[in-house]
Amino acid sequence: MVYDIVQVGDPVLRRPARPVSGEEIRTPFIQELIASMRQTMYAAPGVGLAAPQVGEPLQVVVMEDGGEAMETMSAARRGELGRHPLPFTVLINPVVEQVGDDTTEFFEGCLSLTGFSGLVRRWRTVTVEALDEKGEAVRFRLDGWPARIVQHEADHLAGTLYLDRMDTRSFTTSANHGRYWKARPASDVRAALGPAPG
Ligand code: ZN
Repeated sequence: MVYDIVQVGDPVLRRPARPVSGEEIRTPFIQELIASMRQTMYAAPGVGLAAPQVGEPLQVVVMEDGGEAMETMSAARRGELGRHPLPFTVLINPVVEQVGDDTTEFFEGCLSLTGFSGLVRRWRTVTVEALDEKGEAVRFRLDGWPARIVQHEADHLAGTLYLDRMDTRSFTTSANHGRYWKARPASDVRAALGPAPG
């Protein structure tokens, strides 16, 4: 089943999601939720989706990056973004922690804020601890774009949106992002847009 993705303004996006027990993970309800979130992510299309975005205040995330969008991107641009294939991954009750102090700043969008994006600074490398779709504990490290995806999705589970973290002056429609800002470094964008008031 493909869900309608909840849009900004719905309180479910602002409430902390509750953890899901290992036992609950094996229920048909959670297994169907995961399958439908996967279909919804592909249909959007997007590279990550958190359960609150389909109206369920539960700590469940799906992610996958690869395929066409990545193949049509130049190797240089992929390198800049640290964008490399992320296989389909389910995270339940994820805990995301920074590794080192390196950050990256790129435009980021959200399926719950259709048609917009903004510059967001994220940790370059993180560790992730979670349960998988079978309820088994997993722990791994992500860097570059996959690290950005998991930070974005973990934020959803805490009721946080990229709006709360972005450089507000960089906020743009997707059309204007394509027209003016695409592939330009954050420092250029900031120089062009000028400093914040005050
Ligand atoms: Zn999002």
